[in-house]
Amino acid sequence: MKIIFHGAAQEVGKSCIEVQTGGKRYIMDAGIKFTKDGAEYPKFLDKVYELDGVFLSHAHLDHSGALPLLEHKNLKCPIYCTNLTWKIVNLLLEDNYHLEKLKHIHPAYVERDITKVKNDLRFVTYDKQYETHDGKVKFSYLNSGHIPGGASILMELEGKKLLYTADVNTEDTNLMVPSDIDQLQDIDILITENTYGDREHPSKKDEEAKFLDMVKETIKDGGSVLVPAFAVGRSQEIMILLEQLDEDVPIYLDGMARKVMTLVADSDDKYIDNRDAVERMMKRVKYIKKPTERDHIGKMKGVVIVTTSGMVQGGPVMTYMKHFVNREENRVIMTGYQANGTNGRYIMEERTFKEHHHMYKVHCDIQQVDFSAHYGQTSIRDMMRKINPEHLILQHGDVGALTESLDYAKENLKGKTYMPEIGEVLTFYEDE
Ligand SMILES: [Zn+2]
Repeated sequence: MKIIFHGAAQEVGKSCIEVQTGGKRYIMDAGIKFTKDGAEYPKFLDKVYELDGVFLSHAHLDHSGALPLLEHKNLKCPIYCTNLTWKIVNLLLEDNYHLEKLKHIHPAYVERDITKVKNDLRFVTYDKQYETHDGKVKFSYLNSGHIPGGASILMELEGKKLLYTADVNTEDTNLMVPSDIDQLQDIDILITENTYGDREHPSKKDEEAKFLDMVKETIKDGGSVLVPAFAVGRSQEIMILLEQLDEDVPIYLDGMARKVMTLVADSDDKYIDNRDAVERMMKRVKYIKKPTERDHIGKMKGVVIVTTSGMVQGGPVMTYMKHFVNREENRVIMTGYQANGTNGRYIMEERTFKEHHHMYKVHCDIQQVDFSAHYGQTSIRDMMRKINPEHLILQHGDVGALTESLDYAKENLKGKTYMPEIGEVLTFYEDE
């Protein structure tokens, strides 16, 4: 078999791994990478005219954003994913399409292509074995502990076992049951993400306590709190934490964060932890009925607002920010990684942000907490050592993170290790 890395190779973004076996071609994930000039697609999609199947691990656009492009190119083939993953992907794709249009960035496909993806979906449930229609690959979707609906994918082909972790978390979070893929045995080829290969997360308990203390302190001192958060996973995680606030503190939930929260509360995904808390918070939070209310809420004292986008790159957060940043007693708490060139990064480093060529100065307090949905260095190493595969392939991380894991694996694992570049072809078991 051949495994070819078309994205997320020595980088994070545009995940797309091709598996060739017995004359068939499949891909695992079809993601995009956000750059300041718009979305970047895996280049190989320009050249491919036939595919036999797509295995979609989870809803984040760096794994799913290129699906409509496959339809645009008429690559009709089954797309395997969980039902909840598709519901979230559908929301994100529609939203992203309109956002690109608004920014006058031309998306690589037309809106109709998003609808066409639906016709090719084959829904899978966790922990059940399936087979591709050509009988070449047996596969199952396992809980990845990363975001609702997400999965690691275990495949059997040519009598070998291949495990693609995709984005994975074996550590406990408020929202997800942790993944137990580290218990799997007899894996021949392991492909794992390495986002945190070179570092540890701060203690989750400490970060949560810090977050809640900061919120309480701001409210007590007469200010309000704005939490820009990623729609999927992160916003729900924050909502579960905010349940600990006094009942009389108004909490607003806005934008894509609210839509995803509804999907998560309504789903029957068995690996969502604390669903009761999600449901209780759905009843407790206040919603915005019309966009003009945002101007009013942005000026209110003693409220908490959780909204998208997480990097302050568009969506309702922009309106709140404009009112929010003028009052010193207010506080903005960033809850995730802020990429270079985003407003989120400017706010953190230069206390400014931009919208429609207008520059705003930030006068309120700015803080950051680290709530990660990926496993940290120790857990990555534990997992690699426990599984101890014949071939270990490291991807979805920057070069520094990958190199540290590679060095560790060479010293502590029995098998061969790889850190492929984009376009690199790895060949396995062809002489057997
Ligand atoms: Zn992800």
